[in-house]
Amino acid sequence: MTFNELGLSAKVLQAVEASGYTAPTPIQAEAIPIALAGRDVLGIAQTGTGKTAAFTLPMLSRLEQGRARARMPRTLILEPTRELAAQVEEAFSRYGINHKLNVALLIGGVSFGDQEAKITRGADILIATPGRLLDFFERGKLLLTGIEILVIDEADRMLDMGFIPDIERICKLVPFTRQTLFFSATMPPEITRLTEAFLHQPARIEVAPPSSTASTITQALVASAPGPSKRETLRRLIRGADSFKNAIIFCNRKRDVALLHKSLLKHGFNAGALHGDMDQRARMASLEAFKTGEVDLIVCSDVAARGLDIPDVSHVFNFDIPVHAEDYVHRIGRTGRAGKAGTALTIVAPIDKKHVAEIEKLIGKSIGWLDGADFSSLRADDEAAADLNSDSAAKPLSPRTARRQRGRRGESERPDRAPSHGRESGRAPVQEIAKESSRGQRKPAAAAHRSRPYSDADDSPVVGMGDHTPMFLLRPVRLKPTKATEEQE
Ligand code: AMP
Repeated sequence: MTFNELGLSAKVLQAVEASGYTAPTPIQAEAIPIALAGRDVLGIAQTGTGKTAAFTLPMLSRLEQGRARARMPRTLILEPTRELAAQVEEAFSRYGINHKLNVALLIGGVSFGDQEAKITRGADILIATPGRLLDFFERGKLLLTGIEILVIDEADRMLDMGFIPDIERICKLVPFTRQTLFFSATMPPEITRLTEAFLHQPARIEVAPPSSTASTITQALVASAPGPSKRETLRRLIRGADSFKNAIIFCNRKRDVALLHKSLLKHGFNAGALHGDMDQRARMASLEAFKTGEVDLIVCSDVAARGLDIPDVSHVFNFDIPVHAEDYVHRIGRTGRAGKAGTALTIVAPIDKKHVAEIEKLIGKSIGWLDGADFSSLRADDEAAADLNSDSAAKPLSPRTARRQRGRRGESERPDRAPSHGRESGRAPVQEIAKESSRGQRKPAAAAHRSRPYSDADDSPVVGMGDHTPMFLLRPVRLKPTKATEEQE
């Protein structure tokens, strides 16, 4: 199948060709002709399936007739996050290069003034997050009665973020006769109910989530003891990475994203972070810095990174193995794009065995171990580490007991701190030596030729905040005199 067979306008086809796409993806092949015919679409598809073009291309074709009026946008696209909204705007710039259509973006964290000017001028395409859209509407800056096409994208994520009441309200504010293009990766009951209420005899198009990984991606598992030594393992992987350009590092929890980001900075890495608790400006800045190469590492959570299209990434590191096997396919799909080579390394502890098995089942192949060092070598290292400890008579502690003891001693669990004693303390160094030496034996001469931006030289542990003392700690503190101190004076 080619794009020519879908009924798109000549202007759109030209832009598609300029994008370098040769064939439509399954969701595009099915949804585009239906959308062009003016019918409602219920697309059950995830990001990475090409769903953005599945709605932008027919919209552009259909918008060639007619003009926008002041404050009355012709089409409305709702996105759950500002990054996704900005990404859709980018898609319109790319595919709409031959059109003279006005695109307006209504997202939080950006000044009202500029956005208002665009709406007042008349927008053919309005891309918005639900909250900011309703804000504008309530201030009387916007009329929704001219909407011809309504797109609701990532509906299940809207549900996760509590936007469903807003969506319902918006659906009631736009004309009943509009066309609705609705996309969701999954169909929980709340989403089904929404589609039943607001879609008119939609064509249901379901695309299987991607379950295979590109052959351009070299994948490997990296055994690591759980807990503190994981960060050390990650640093070693980054420093030893072949043909390194940049990397996305995934953590499962946003708390860990922040923690790992801080640790990487302290160790001299040029890293940004992306997680849901960051404010919008910081998120956009982080993403932009990574896209432009200002930082070459970005630590992300799945939710923050979902749907983001970042081209040309040389490495993906799974600091935590994903809990859902499909997320693995998504994560590592950030590298090895467009025929380029990419590397995806997943740090795993013995406790992650179940997740490894699920991923291997989904992708239909087993993932090898980096340098052949699997869990058994890790366990051997652990034993060696325990023996090296002068405290060999001590019984191995369970992580819980160790934590409790550390707590009683007033020690922190900070992984970057030099460990004091106990079974855990010996693990990382021994494992590190074992891995480094095996790597050294494998390719002793090649190392000098690799592009490795991070040298191994300064691997000393960073204690506390390292050299960095936050300004607030340097401020003089004036204590309010209490009755007792006044009496003493
Ligand atoms: P999406 O699912 O819309 O986020 O798209 C995922 C990625 O696929 C984006 O990088 C698009 O540029 C790319 N893409 C979309 N359609 C095609 C196509 N027909 N052929 C190749 N790549 C595509």
